[in-house]
Amino acid sequence: MKGFAVLGVGKAGWVEKERPICGPLDAICRPIALSLCTSDVHWVEDEDGAHRNGLVMGHEGVGEVMEVGSLVKDFKPGDLVIVPAVTPNWSDVASQAGYSVHSGGLFGGLAFSKKGGMFAEFFHVNDADGNLVHLPEGMDLGVASMVSDMMPTGFHGCELAEIEFGDTVCIIGIGPVGLMAVRAAVLSGASRVFGVGTRPDCIKVAKEYGATDFISYKDGPLDKQVRELTNKRGVDKVIIAGGTNDTFAEAIKMLKPGGKIGNVNYLDKGEYIKIPRVAWGLGMGHKQINGGLMYGGRLKIEKMVSMINYGRVDPAPLVTHRFEGLDALPEMLQLMLDKPADLIKTVATIKW
Ligand code: NDP
Ligand code: ZN
Repeated sequence: MKGFAVLGVGKAGWVEKERPICGPLDAICRPIALSLCTSDVHWVEDEDGAHRNGLVMGHEGVGEVMEVGSLVKDFKPGDLVIVPAVTPNWSDVASQAGYSVHSGGLFGGLAFSKKGGMFAEFFHVNDADGNLVHLPEGMDLGVASMVSDMMPTGFHGCELAEIEFGDTVCIIGIGPVGLMAVRAAVLSGASRVFGVGTRPDCIKVAKEYGATDFISYKDGPLDKQVRELTNKRGVDKVIIAGGTNDTFAEAIKMLKPGGKIGNVNYLDKGEYIKIPRVAWGLGMGHKQINGGLMYGGRLKIEKMVSMINYGRVDPAPLVTHRFEGLDALPEMLQLMLDKPADLIKTVATIKW
């Protein structure tokens, strides 16, 4: 079968792979909708990523079940399924401890990043009953593709920051992940919501989702801007969904004592992250930093689907560029590398 893989720094292309084999708990699917993630782009751009050469990308989309293992109860060939980006091993003790994404070791639940992903004619899903989600009838495939990763990741940023009613929140980065975090923060009861970003289309969607104020990282340090706009008080919570290692310093400086930071940004460069000593209350400011990859799995993703079904969230505005066929993947990747201002997410639908 053919798959679209990382081939070196700045390079990706088609490779031939063996069709995956289905274990007793697993499913083999073929993609019917696919989206590209900024994390796929990190892989292609990663200068230390030689170990990934030949690895098939892709962890966002919808599939058709082609084959299931003998112990799979809830799915059968022909079912259409939303596939989570994170597919934990649910019998692992890390899952029992509440950190399913680390089942089998750090990031073990990111199974597609080890065995290869969904950008292929067939892909393998471990623990099918614990990970797949039936596609609701009538749900747009582009919207469904946003449920694999963008929506649960943005929402996880909000969980990590522990947003409470009335909180003033700053969301650093309003790409698709940050936009979902805006919606999650508003649904969690945030009052004032700052969005950090420059792309006009993202600002428009962030307004629709309930953001109240916008600032740009191009206009000087974010903490200075936030402090000026809040009578020097700062914010209760920060969600980081964009920026660099230095963004942490800005986040800590804009945070009130007792505040919390939820980071879902992928920090792909540098040795260390600096924490400003004085702004962190000399180590005693009760400013908490939580960073995490979303949990994935069936239950969390079914809850995301329920929020869409009951009108709490509409991820449709994220899908700005639509394509047809597996062969569109190189063009979609190029768009993600170029990041034109009107791009939020690409989705390809595939007919077999
Ligand atoms: P995008 O690149 O689309 O968005 C990034 C956002 O950050 C944009 O709003 C951008 O502004 C803003 N930004 C850029 N530079 C800075 C800066 N110096 N300071 C502050 N803000 C800045 O990314 P995505 O929304 O697709 O993804 C966000 C991150 O989440 C990525 O690192 C991705 O890999 C990661 N991720 C993490 C997952 C998890 O489970 N933890 C899962 C999926 C993704 P502008 O408007 O100017 O472009
Ligand atoms: Zn992703």
